Amino acid sequence: MKIYISADMEGVAGIVSWPEVELGNNSYKEAQQQMTKEVAAICEAVQASGAAEVLVKDAHDTGRNLIISELPHDVDIHRAWSKHPYVMMMGLDKSFDACILTGYHDAVYGNGNPLAHTMHETKYQWLKMNGVLMSEMMLNAYIAAYEGVPVIAVTGDAAVCDRARQLMPNVKTAAVKEGEGGGCTTMHPDRAIEVIQSEVKEAMRQLKENPSQFKLTLPERFVLEVCFTSHVDSYRAGFYKGVQTIDAHTIKFETDDFFDLLRMFFFAC
Ligand SMILES: [Zn+2]
Repeated sequence: MKIYISADMEGVAGIVSWPEVELGNNSYKEAQQQMTKEVAAICEAVQASGAAEVLVKDAHDTGRNLIISELPHDVDIHRAWSKHPYVMMMGLDKSFDACILTGYHDAVYGNGNPLAHTMHETKYQWLKMNGVLMSEMMLNAYIAAYEGVPVIAVTGDAAVCDRARQLMPNVKTAAVKEGEGGGCTTMHPDRAIEVIQSEVKEAMRQLKENPSQFKLTLPERFVLEVCFTSHVDSYRAGFYKGVQTIDAHTIKFETDDFFDLLRMFFFAC
């Protein structure tokens, strides 16, 4: 079996502030260590469950967060950014049997993580896909569905885990912390590792038993609405072919071709 892991940082146990997720900051080291431990725990769990090949995408900020020498020696890691529209899902293709999203966090406009955002820390007030608040989890689950690869597990804050189960009722989730306003109640980092490992092992067991339960069907039509923080970004996006301007801060794009939507989001937003 071949497993893909997309690893973000704001949903890692204990993390509550921007300096902790900024490479080079004094408080980054401990957060980096915990992110690496959570990803290593997932690699070990999928390997123990029969995964012969594992690709990990370091999907936060610089794409250079994981201490790769501390991951199992037989996994591959994608670092930095290729500038492919798959962004946090770079390297995923039809050859994978399943994917896991880890360290994920609540969407922009949500209250489930002090660091709630979608793709950019400050650029958007909100994003909606087919009327639903769009998280990175949702966008990336659709990318996986586009490649025919099921998402079997999501780990991160409780809010993104709830959103994941709304989108994919059978997905296994490990909520390692719960955010409210500017703070979080978090599991002890070692307990988080245990919970993540047991959920991932259960996801792998269920994948082998009944893979179709994890299937996410792509919508036939996509309507993406973007409300920018700055009217200048909205004005600029309005020139992309097919983009409708709704008001000074908001644009809308409709298509039945998912890659068209990715392309628009990547180049216009
Ligand atoms: Zn991130």
